[in-house]
Amino acid sequence: MNNSSIITLNEKSVKNNIDFLKKKLGAKVKVSAVVKANAYGHGIEQIVPLFEKHGIDHYSVFYYSEAMRVYKSLSAPATIMIMGWVSDEDMNDVLCKGFEFFVFNLERLQTALESAKRLNIKAKIHLEAETGMNRSGLNPSVLNEAISIIKENPDYFDVVGFCTHLAGAESISNHPRIQKQLKKYQKMLSVLEANNIVPKCKHVANSAAAFVYPKARMDLVRVGIMMYGFWSSTEVFIQYINNKATKTDPLNRILGWQSQIMSIKYIKTGEFVSYGISYLAQSDIKTALIPIGYSSGYSRSLSNKGRVLIRGQRCSVIGVVNMNMIIADITNLPDAEIGDEVVIIGKQGDLEIKVSAFSDISEQLNYEVLAHLSESIKRTIINKL
Ligand SMILES: *Cc1c(COP(=O)(O)O)cnc(C)c1O
Repeated sequence: MNNSSIITLNEKSVKNNIDFLKKKLGAKVKVSAVVKANAYGHGIEQIVPLFEKHGIDHYSVFYYSEAMRVYKSLSAPATIMIMGWVSDEDMNDVLCKGFEFFVFNLERLQTALESAKRLNIKAKIHLEAETGMNRSGLNPSVLNEAISIIKENPDYFDVVGFCTHLAGAESISNHPRIQKQLKKYQKMLSVLEANNIVPKCKHVANSAAAFVYPKARMDLVRVGIMMYGFWSSTEVFIQYINNKATKTDPLNRILGWQSQIMSIKYIKTGEFVSYGISYLAQSDIKTALIPIGYSSGYSRSLSNKGRVLIRGQRCSVIGVVNMNMIIADITNLPDAEIGDEVVIIGKQGDLEIKVSAFSDISEQLNYEVLAHLSESIKRTIINKL
């Protein structure tokens, strides 16, 4: 391996997850693949062609810059929806490229209107309702103002969608809050429709909401974490699996992360390993140096806690995680040598290190672990169809 580490993407898992999601959500529900944060760390340029090949034609991103990356990665036209940031300077290009985008305040609506007039085309907008998350979205009174502006400018707006985001559908404890949000959404939708604005795409659900609240699927689900083979939370998974005959996880992880042993050392009892004094050798040990660190996305909170797989065995990460290196105790592997494969995420032999194991010990969310994977790590596709 030429690279200090590589990320592998399993195409069979991509197909499996898409097939599962489409089947469960039903033919009437559009699946929008959420590919923000570099496709949850998987790599936009690598994952988008795979999603495209296996039947995805709708993509959700946060930034205009991500929309551009998706656009360039596609081989055929598809819908690209920007849920977050567009600078005023980029609005013209957003309209020219036909990107759809969320309108969450009047300023955004005005910017869109100016660009649309300048270019004499329609802005494809999704009105985002504030229904209780209190993050982004139009309050009922602001929605009324937005409606007036849209009605005054019928040539410049195509109201494609009406949407909101639910504040924590992955946890049962948020149930009452979510119910309130859904009610509020319906109320605001009826205001819109009473004004003859009938968006063809009503959407409120992320992965968790689509499974916990089937009514929330509506016309489209913005599926992020489940595309990549993870359940939003254990609660969501348990709820799904509870009344199924087979208890195996229908989703498959796409991503693996491998490195190799860069150097080997023998350390004497009583010596400290790595920076500071957080790891003291309690006996003579053998260590492996591995060329990944917190700059690659291996959290410093895994210091003295992480595990890696080498020669089919679990090995503990000892000492603090450095910017570019970690050290593993390989005392139990007398034959281990430089160049041996080190699995950081994924399977080796019968063992597997899951992102969830990672997040359990470092108190990070799956989302967070994935989003931190460095963009500079090479991605390659395995198990091609
Ligand atoms: C990130 C995001 C999603 C996807 O959430 P998952 O839990 O990953 O499915 C959906 N909608 C919005 C607005 C988001 O920001």
